[in-house]
Amino acid sequence: MKLIGFLTVLIVLGSAHQVSAQETKIKWHGHAAFSITTPKGKVLLIDPWLNNPLNPEAKDGKDPLTAVPKVDYILLTHGHRDHVGDAVEIAKKTGAALICNPELAGNLAKLADFPEKQAQTDAIMGIGGEIQIADGEVTIAMTPAVHSSSVFNPKATATNAERAYGGNPAGFVLIIKNGPTVYHSGDTAYFKDMETVGEQYKVDAALLNIGGHFGMEPLMAAKAAQSVGARVAIPQHYATFPGISVNADGFAAELKRLKIPFYEMKPGETISYRGKLMVKK
Ligand SMILES: [Zn+2]
Repeated sequence: MKLIGFLTVLIVLGSAHQVSAQETKIKWHGHAAFSITTPKGKVLLIDPWLNNPLNPEAKDGKDPLTAVPKVDYILLTHGHRDHVGDAVEIAKKTGAALICNPELAGNLAKLADFPEKQAQTDAIMGIGGEIQIADGEVTIAMTPAVHSSSVFNPKATATNAERAYGGNPAGFVLIIKNGPTVYHSGDTAYFKDMETVGEQYKVDAALLNIGGHFGMEPLMAAKAAQSVGARVAIPQHYATFPGISVNADGFAAELKRLKIPFYEMKPGETISYRGKLMVKK
């Protein structure tokens, strides 16, 4: 009987563990950097500039890379330095496969020492396409972005450009099995065809650049939230460096007017989803 009791405890513990394993976790590292952990435990890192000034895990001489010991995929919306960030170092440390356009992947390998094999998988893709990763648990769609893209060339000389070609800038939609559908806008300007992205993918969480100057101003970012039909709009790409918005107040006020749910993450914060439902914030 005692053994049966023990087994019951094990089964209960096991199912409790399964419940938490069914969660999708979204962590904001500051600026445009997010990591997403799927219900099956795969880790996707988007625009991993972890050494940005907002990241609490990069403060006081701390190494923010210790906070991401396991990464399966690195997604880059475009080649600018505040998005490529620490991708090369993280790729070397974790063996993660790169997901971005072929020109950016090629130049990162050629000029920035990104591990070639990890930049040459079938996860290299183009705008308009979809790929399945993580044994089919996640579908990634690459969406248009109105911005620019170049790769910083550390080997630049007087006659060799400092900025190499980075392909077209993009956004991503991540469709997670038993989890939310997440849209990361990259640094795009507002464009009305975001409505098509929303119609096609039914976005649960929209991670939108709101800082202006280089991308959407807060009011246009609110319009983007409306166009993609976001169930919740989460701001990113603000308050990081001079020239972009210092807070999300204008964005929040406009979303309130448009009756769109808003959630402001703190740098370093994680939110969880059970299925398509946000369970903790
Ligand atoms: Zn940027």
